Amino acid sequence: MSGGDKLDFEIRPNPAPVSVADRAALLANPGFGRVFTDHMVTIRYADGKGWYDARVEARAPIPMDPAAAVLHYAQEIFEGLKAYRTADGGVTMFRPEANAARFAASARRMAMPPLPEEAFVDSLRRLVEIDRDWIPAGEDGSLYLRPFMFASEVFLGVRPANEYLYVVIASPVGAYFPGGVKPVTVWVTPDYTRAAPGGTGAAKCGGNYASSLVAQAEAIEHGCDQVVFLDAVERRFVDELGGMNVFFVYDDGTVVTPPLTGTILPGITRESVLTLAAGAGHRIEERPVSFADWQADAASGRLREVFACGTAAVITPIGEVRFPDGGFLIGGGEPGRVTMALRQQLVDLQRGGAADPHGWVRRI
Ligand code: PMP
Repeated sequence: MSGGDKLDFEIRPNPAPVSVADRAALLANPGFGRVFTDHMVTIRYADGKGWYDARVEARAPIPMDPAAAVLHYAQEIFEGLKAYRTADGGVTMFRPEANAARFAASARRMAMPPLPEEAFVDSLRRLVEIDRDWIPAGEDGSLYLRPFMFASEVFLGVRPANEYLYVVIASPVGAYFPGGVKPVTVWVTPDYTRAAPGGTGAAKCGGNYASSLVAQAEAIEHGCDQVVFLDAVERRFVDELGGMNVFFVYDDGTVVTPPLTGTILPGITRESVLTLAAGAGHRIEERPVSFADWQADAASGRLREVFACGTAAVITPIGEVRFPDGGFLIGGGEPGRVTMALRQQLVDLQRGGAADPHGWVRRI
């Protein structure tokens, strides 16, 4: 099975899946990230052997030796994307090839073997096919897919491992905002940064999130939903949020987002929004935005809307900004017109309810 980019998956259906009645009860109110489907994908890797033992099997705990390298040196990466149920009962995934490419890029940054992109997309397809009854119906629900890979080699010592386990699990999720889209309040942390030049900011590795938790906790202490990180060198420019990219919309219709300089995650939603905004006639700019300008332009009214974007919450208006010396509102704290139009356009596309000129939607 090693060598080529296509892997043969052995399918071992779960002999004891959740009953239809129990599944229906779970899907009625799945929340976020707490309910899981009947199956998972696993693929192993070993130096000299390549990728092998690709399986779709019953979701189960993963036995792990206490000396497994990931538990000590955090050599781990992951991805996140969703499968959607369309109005006509079909199933879609949104740009899984982009996640495959980012997963491979994350792997290279973390000195891990990149899984062939075709095998990554194939693994998602297989899991969605076998667990398709777990995709919630209705326009708010989706099946969150979580591919991840970690160093499974049993050894203590700081060097890249030579054995890895790739896994995909799936979690039905409900509306991220029960009761409609509500602008969030963000906290600009004065104390912590997320990623320095040359660091791992552009990789989706668990360590980035581990180091962000204390800042996220600080945000919550200040009554905020999400943390905003400034650049690690000057503490002057806006990088991104704990788990989302950020956009600014000005009074002349220009849509601005920080550039990909290696310290922020290259969000797939970010890239999609840039494309959709350009298509809707907005001027788009990828350039640094200082926190001082953010405040000044909000005060002058030149800055009309700010929003965060990512797979989980799609596009989320930012209504209020807080920092140690004060705070301010954006657009009176109400969702902006451009924000909501882009959000609708993206949601319609993801759920197969709109023309797909960019070829982003994969039907399953
Ligand atoms: N930045 C960070 C730090 C994230 O964790 C995420 C979520 N993956 C994003 C941005 C948005 O990325 P995407 O649009 O690909 O979900």
